[in-house]
Amino acid sequence: MINVLASIASVPKSLCGISKSEYMRHFGSLTKSLPDSFNNKTHQIQNSDIGKNIAMGLGVVGLVTAAAIKTFKPYQIKQFAEHIDFREAKNIYEAKKFARDNFGIKLEADNDLFTANMINEVCTNVSNKMKGKLSLPQKIVVQDENMINKYGRKCRGEYNVSNDTIYINKQTIAGKYTIPDTGEKISLSKWLNGLAERGSSYSKIKTDWENSPYSFQQYALFRMKHCIAHEIGHCNHFNLNKTGYWMSVARGKEFQTEINKPEIKEVCQKFFHSENYAKNPLEFVADTFAFKISGRDIPKEIEKIYKNCGGISVPFNS
Ligand SMILES: [Zn+2]
Repeated sequence: MINVLASIASVPKSLCGISKSEYMRHFGSLTKSLPDSFNNKTHQIQNSDIGKNIAMGLGVVGLVTAAAIKTFKPYQIKQFAEHIDFREAKNIYEAKKFARDNFGIKLEADNDLFTANMINEVCTNVSNKMKGKLSLPQKIVVQDENMINKYGRKCRGEYNVSNDTIYINKQTIAGKYTIPDTGEKISLSKWLNGLAERGSSYSKIKTDWENSPYSFQQYALFRMKHCIAHEIGHCNHFNLNKTGYWMSVARGKEFQTEINKPEIKEVCQKFFHSENYAKNPLEFVADTFAFKISGRDIPKEIEKIYKNCGGISVPFNS
């Protein structure tokens, strides 16, 4: 499906702009604040978990990892309801209210009702899969501009650790479709939102596109869901296993050696939908997390690398 789609949907080289230096700059100086309503149900990670993470087989203890261990403090994760029922919002205010009431998320959706509903549905799915014990960002922003991150790369989503915010690029998240006659490229996300603006319900549009004879429409929905879950994956990796996270950054070269082994490369190329996973351990973990959330079976080779990179179990602590 991907090869066929390559000609009609642009597949960005990277899902988001994560850079080691970006994280390094903020390392150790981050604090996470929780909405008051969640503070009475927070959990602390115990030191035994930290030891377990360190003993996970991450052999290189360099400057980064030494710093990670030294400055590690017990942190809090959010406990949401174990099961939340997704409710489709009929307007953008309802969508913002759903995000705030259920997850304490400030949702800025640029009046894009379809994407707002999709974000809420994915957050609900991830939360339910994690039995309500997870990290979700303080804010999710849908941007209607060609998102270029500070490293000059185009991206369709980004998790920014410094302000605990996920940015979604409305222009590219669902891919683009080229009109055969004119060659004009149109954003599938805008197309979807246009249907919502004209009164079609989120569930109807989704059903129509999921059952569409055109694979690009099915794939557009997959891309949106996957991208949002991927960014939530970064958020959880960073917030729920800081030690494993930083150790994986420090072991970037070992990661590259591992995934470039022919037998591993073959498994990865069959499993992942883009080459993004190969960029660094952070992208590998976020993408694998998104597939775990979607219920896809994870090959044992990928599961092993995921754990070695500090990827958290789904559900958390299972
Ligand atoms: Zn990413």
